[in-house]
Amino acid sequence: MQNIEPKHPMRRLFLYLRSYQRTVILSMLTVVVHKVFDLMPPFLVGWMVNIANKDTPDWIVQLLGTSETTTAVVFVSILIVVIFGLESLTQWIYKIGFLRLAQQVQHDLRLDAYQQLQVREVAYFESNRTGNLMAMLNDDINQLERFLNSSLDEIIQLIVLFLFAGAALVGVSWQLTVIGLVPIPIIYLGSLYYQKQVSPLYRRVREAVGHLSNRLENNIAGILVIKSFNAEAYETERVRATSEAYRKANFDAIEYSAPFIPLIRMAIALGLAAVMGMGAMQVISDPSVLNVGELTFFGMMIQRVLWPITRMGSVLDEYERARASARRVFGLMDTPNEIQEVNQPLPLDQFSSAVKFEAVSFTYTDGHLIFNGLNLEILRGQRVGIAGTTGSGKSTLVKLLLRLYDVNDGKITIDGNDIRNVRLTELRRLVALVSQEVYLFHGTIYENVAYGCNEHATREQVIAACEQAQLHDFIMKLPNAYDTIVGERGIKLSGGQRQRLSIARAILKDAPILVLDEATSAVDTETERAIQQNIYQLTADKTAIIIAHRLSTIRHCDKIIVLKEGNIHESGTHDALLAQKGIYADLWAVQIGEVS
Ligand code: ATP
Ligand code: MG
Repeated sequence: MQNIEPKHPMRRLFLYLRSYQRTVILSMLTVVVHKVFDLMPPFLVGWMVNIANKDTPDWIVQLLGTSETTTAVVFVSILIVVIFGLESLTQWIYKIGFLRLAQQVQHDLRLDAYQQLQVREVAYFESNRTGNLMAMLNDDINQLERFLNSSLDEIIQLIVLFLFAGAALVGVSWQLTVIGLVPIPIIYLGSLYYQKQVSPLYRRVREAVGHLSNRLENNIAGILVIKSFNAEAYETERVRATSEAYRKANFDAIEYSAPFIPLIRMAIALGLAAVMGMGAMQVISDPSVLNVGELTFFGMMIQRVLWPITRMGSVLDEYERARASARRVFGLMDTPNEIQEVNQPLPLDQFSSAVKFEAVSFTYTDGHLIFNGLNLEILRGQRVGIAGTTGSGKSTLVKLLLRLYDVNDGKITIDGNDIRNVRLTELRRLVALVSQEVYLFHGTIYENVAYGCNEHATREQVIAACEQAQLHDFIMKLPNAYDTIVGERGIKLSGGQRQRLSIARAILKDAPILVLDEATSAVDTETERAIQQNIYQLTADKTAIIIAHRLSTIRHCDKIIVLKEGNIHESGTHDALLAQKGIYADLWAVQIGEVS
């Protein structure tokens, strides 16, 4: 399942700013005011030069009510300090404003994206690589944060710069402005061209760093395999090659970008030389048209306009990158969940009569038919054993019951209600699953057992569940007992210990239907028997679905079914199945050693 293309990704991003309107308005206003103050020095210097030249600007004379030069000098000096002070103050305010906005929005976005991702159907996670999903939640959202934090204010500053400085320059002399601005298209086109040339190089850098981190991550996770196959030299070589590619990509990009700034500086120099040269000629020939102060102002201001143009390329680039990130993040959010709840779900607070699979057909996305019209009835209070060769669909049956996937045909009902018509949380609350692949979270044993029941389980209940699962004695021997950290994915526990922890977790959930999918395959037969006796006691008034290759695990079930080729091949009690002399009887004979 691919993500859909969202419409207007950037508009969606800006909509996130709506909750912070006051900060947005304050930050935008202060950035405009700041930029205006930032452009004042050429004016200040121009006025001061004119005052020194005994040509005090009229407005200063009028404002001060005197043409005395010392007063004017003091006035402009104070103005310089005041304006620089205000410039710093506004900078401080808008920086904090944009920083706060960027942090808030990235937090909101990440949480929204995560929540949308978490409810997505399981098949979605199978068709999208973890690395890509992680990249959206991390890199893309960080990219948007960077954009809001620094590029957005830069865009506003560029706009203010062109409007304000442009007007000021034209106000002094439009002819000189035209000449001074001749390099603009050259600088702008040059930046664009350069951006185009260099962006594939930077893309290569990003790809290379991605490969490198994938490789390192894989190797650290697979360190056991590397060591046991003596593959250290081979892996070092692979890391060396990947790192080398990264080094080279970086080098190419930097090497290409190095001459850019010096070239742009030459273009600016030409513009400046033309303006200053022609301006000076004009001052000499007729100071009433252009005076010394105005020439100084022009020389300073024109540089301030030209330099930022070199930034336009990269600002546009940042905008494009932010757009691409926004497209991915909102695409992730907008993609509809394929496992949908109906608008008015039927209530399902308890399980009172039966679970039924009615003519169920199912195929995973690859089209290979797993079930073909399967019928199965599990009555409340029954213990049902499921046998079948590997790959026959035993685990799939459970996934369908939990509605991790939807059936293609037929239906599954609980007490007569189609499970598609009830709330997902209520359906899943009815079932406690010990799945074939145990997953433990990084944290303590206690946290892992209490997982999902954190609020309502007492310590006594947690300990009781561990006792039932034959885990308590082991835990008490650990240095930190229940507070021992299990490590990522539970790597500090043995396979059998992990299974027992997962059984304890399911016992604690205390749901009406208990599903054990190869839950005791990794524990010894003695322990298995002890666990089973406890489970039989515990599930006296419950329903149990027990999947096992080891037939002794399910021999005492009320009903045993054997899955084969998408359907139930045999079904009955242990004794009845033995009497049938079918697959079950054959397997049993092999397992107890009658046949070799
Ligand atoms: P085992 O005894 O080995 O646990 P099983 O009976 O539990 O086997 P299932 O896990 O239900 O078998 O798998 C049934 C079939 O569906 C297998 O052929 C498997 O390759 C396929 N299958 C399982 N999960 C997926 C999936 N997510 N996508 C595509 N095919 C799948
Ligand atoms: Mg299985």
